Amino acid sequence: MQITFLGAAQTVTGSCHLVETADKKIMVDCGMFQGPRVIRERNYEPFAVTPQSVDYLLLTHAHIDHSGQIPRLFKHGFEGRALATDASVDLLEVMLPDSGHIQEMEVERLNRKARRAGKKLFTPIYTAEDGYECVKNFERVRYNQIIALDEDISVRFVDAGHILGSSILEMWIREGGNTTKLVFTGDLGSPGKPYVHDPTIIEEADYLVIESTYGNRLHKDNDQNRSDKLAEVIKETYQKGGNLIIPAFAVERTQDLLYDINQLVLADKLPPVKVYIDSPMAVAVTEVFRRHPELFDIETSKLIMAGENPLTMPELHFSRTTDESRMLNALPGGAIILSASGMCDAGRIKHHLKHNLWRPECTVLFVGYQAPGTKGHHLLNGATSIRIHGEEVAVKADIRRIDAYSSHADQQGLLDWVSKFKNKPRRVFLVHGEPEGMKTMAGLMQEKLGLEAYAPQWQETVNLTPGAVLTTEDLLSAYQEIAVKMEIFASSAPARSELERVMKRIREINGILDKTSQAG
Ligand SMILES: [Zn+2]
Ligand SMILES: [Zn+2]
Repeated sequence: MQITFLGAAQTVTGSCHLVETADKKIMVDCGMFQGPRVIRERNYEPFAVTPQSVDYLLLTHAHIDHSGQIPRLFKHGFEGRALATDASVDLLEVMLPDSGHIQEMEVERLNRKARRAGKKLFTPIYTAEDGYECVKNFERVRYNQIIALDEDISVRFVDAGHILGSSILEMWIREGGNTTKLVFTGDLGSPGKPYVHDPTIIEEADYLVIESTYGNRLHKDNDQNRSDKLAEVIKETYQKGGNLIIPAFAVERTQDLLYDINQLVLADKLPPVKVYIDSPMAVAVTEVFRRHPELFDIETSKLIMAGENPLTMPELHFSRTTDESRMLNALPGGAIILSASGMCDAGRIKHHLKHNLWRPECTVLFVGYQAPGTKGHHLLNGATSIRIHGEEVAVKADIRRIDAYSSHADQQGLLDWVSKFKNKPRRVFLVHGEPEGMKTMAGLMQEKLGLEAYAPQWQETVNLTPGAVLTTEDLLSAYQEIAVKMEIFASSAPARSELERVMKRIREINGILDKTSQAG
């Protein structure tokens, strides 16, 4: 059995991992590469595996960096089974056609230039139609059910607490009489978020593939001061007479912010602001949220029962059409505008930045991860001007950030989650992170949890040895070794380190015995 890291290796985006047994190929996620051009260009390269040869596609969650290449996989011949949770499939129905539309727009722009230059025309990697069509092939699964894909491969999707429908994937593979358990965290949530539950604890794995977006960072703000900070930024901007622009991912982040704004309105802590959601996708995604109250955590469920649904509060205005969006450009102040993309590289947010960034009375508030190379990253790092739609715009607005909205576990959150394993993974693969963060995380896992963690390279293949294989000979020779070392220890004190090595071996064997007896 082997695993190949086809994306999110030494980088955050493009999640895609391929597990191969003697006769089956299982793909976990098939995401779009985002960020700097050298990374984005990977989206246009042929798939490293023939799509026809893939038997199963398992999707952890709907975010484009995990799902954005799925229409292309289908277009190039994938005809295996595709599985995702019910809510993930609902979100894909919104997100994949939107992603296809962006591809078409992008190619149209390139072709205008190409036509003028008499050059060869480009075709989009997939269209809105491709995005729409491929979702129909998905099987909708429920959390916590063990699904036998065939005689030898079973999977279970459990709540990852990251976004609506997000899952950690548990996978059991039987090969040569041994069962090996692989766990893929997908993106791991941070506890205490609105709507979603806290991430499910997993206690056992042979191999763990874990995200490490915040491998070397801690969220500075916690959930208690999150809404106080938000109230402060809203009030300050209101007093200055400007608008508050919040670049927010359409999925989860926008709805999380609405939750807090609603709480603040109910507690009478806000000036009379108007809230605008200016992103057709955020509007559609909010609709999907409304359809899935069964997935909400207890606090949100209570609010809805009390008739105070944060997704339908009266101060909230949705702008769907471009005309409605354009009208917001004329607003002098008193508005909170939530718009996408979250990293300011595409979509309507660029218009709002153009109209507000140069005004000192306005504020731009960042509430999410900004990948290096994006406009959001430049703004957070003190850019004094940025180019929007070919125009230089001065940065005079107040640039702020609140960390606590991140839907990713931070460094401590990741370590806490991994520390809950009772049977430690034999090997941990770090993915979905920047190289620096993964290096830090690997060191901490080794030092604090005694785990061997490794950050694979892009397209690297690693052989996985099958689950516990233990013979009587193994046991006997290990115990004989112990007996001999104990004697050495008794006669020579400096052999302490040698004894420690042997004791470690005993613990390993005990671990394996535990596992074998549980399996039996
Ligand atoms: Zn995600
Ligand atoms: Zn991700």
